Amino acid sequence: MRVVVIGAGLGGLCLAQGLKKAGVDVRVHERDSGVEARFQGYRIGLGGLGWESMKACLPERLHPLLDATSGELSGPGRLLDPRLNQVGLDDDEPLARSMEANLVDRHVLRHLLLTDLDTTFGSRLTGYTEGGSTVRAAFADGTEVDCDVLVGADGIGSAVRRQLIGPAVRESTGVRGVIGRTPLEDRFAALVPGRGTVVTDGDRQLFLGKMPFRRPPREAAAELAPDVRLPDVRSYLRWVMMLPPSADTWDLPADWHPLLHDLVGSADPDNTAMGTLEYVAPADPWPTGRVTLLGDAVHPMLPAGGMGGNCALIDARRLCETLLGDGDLAAYEQEMLAATRPLVLSSKAMLDRFRALSVER
Ligand SMILES: Cc1cc2nc3c(=O)[nH]c(=O)nc-3n(C[C@H](O)[C@H](O)[C@H](O)COP(=O)(O)OP(=O)(O)OC[C@H]3O[C@@H](n4cnc5c(N)ncnc54)[C@H](O)[C@@H]3O)c2cc1C
Repeated sequence: MRVVVIGAGLGGLCLAQGLKKAGVDVRVHERDSGVEARFQGYRIGLGGLGWESMKACLPERLHPLLDATSGELSGPGRLLDPRLNQVGLDDDEPLARSMEANLVDRHVLRHLLLTDLDTTFGSRLTGYTEGGSTVRAAFADGTEVDCDVLVGADGIGSAVRRQLIGPAVRESTGVRGVIGRTPLEDRFAALVPGRGTVVTDGDRQLFLGKMPFRRPPREAAAELAPDVRLPDVRSYLRWVMMLPPSADTWDLPADWHPLLHDLVGSADPDNTAMGTLEYVAPADPWPTGRVTLLGDAVHPMLPAGGMGGNCALIDARRLCETLLGDGDLAAYEQEMLAATRPLVLSSKAMLDRFRALSVER
């Protein structure tokens, strides 16, 4: 069996690792020109079944490196006003806690997941043709590849999805956000003693979270898996700012605490970006063939739920087991859609909850 995976993101690479481990001919095609080509600089929280699924797919020899380059999330979250007075404590989200128990840097994880895979960079899928017992994938550079199963793991703008079930219809939430990262100096780390800190004045929310590597990734790789080359990154503080509709920059208001001004002002410009959050409604089932989807390609979620990566990894393992087992893609698709529909809906509800966070001034 030959499987072609479109997209070297978390889900596609996890699937490819699981298939390769079982000896399947699997190839990954990624449109980016290389692993360093694009901003990937934020941390994500993975846990529960998502984390287990990734470990089940990865070869055991890479588990110690995965553990060493992740960070731990613990302790209650805090709610502060812009002068840094504590106005609330939040420790009542057991699901979110367990699903975010391991903090990983997306860029470091992507490097790790690429280990030993047959990946072609600069290879953008433009379309495919399904005929008889094979699928032919076509790429922007004019090349074509035949396979038995084609997997669209190509994220929110998925070209595979567009052809299979139609494009994802993106609905603007009207919420603009900035994501940034700042080196983890002690004075900034002190702002986040627990799993996260939210600073809010009612109009604007600043979410702070640490990415504390247990060990510097490059150093850990040199010792634990010398053939794996990981980026040389240090622990950092990841912040996400939700802006009020009237704001045209992400400069903090003058009355916010000077430490917060320093934190935002010291952000690494290469790893800071602004965007509008978009919602995509859950997909409906489609007639099963030899082409299928996983992760954000089929069920993108608003980051407010913190579940998208976990779900991509769970899909990857589920699909891997299906392909290694009875090959029943219809059952895979049915289970995957049923499991993720409520999470897509709840990510929207959580965004509304975050927007409503306010404090008495
Ligand atoms: C700010 C932020 C914070 C988040 N935090 C969390 C969190 O804490 N926990 C969590 O679980 N999730 C989190 N997520 C969600 C998570 O990052 C995504 O759900 C996850 O990356 C989806 O994985 P994927 O493999 O489906 O897609 P992606 O990781 O997006 O990968 C898709 C890949 O396909 C490639 N591609 C696209 N089109 C083509 C094409 N035509 N041909 C070839 N390649 C193509 C892309 O370049 C990309 O590399 C967060 C997301 C954001 C934006």
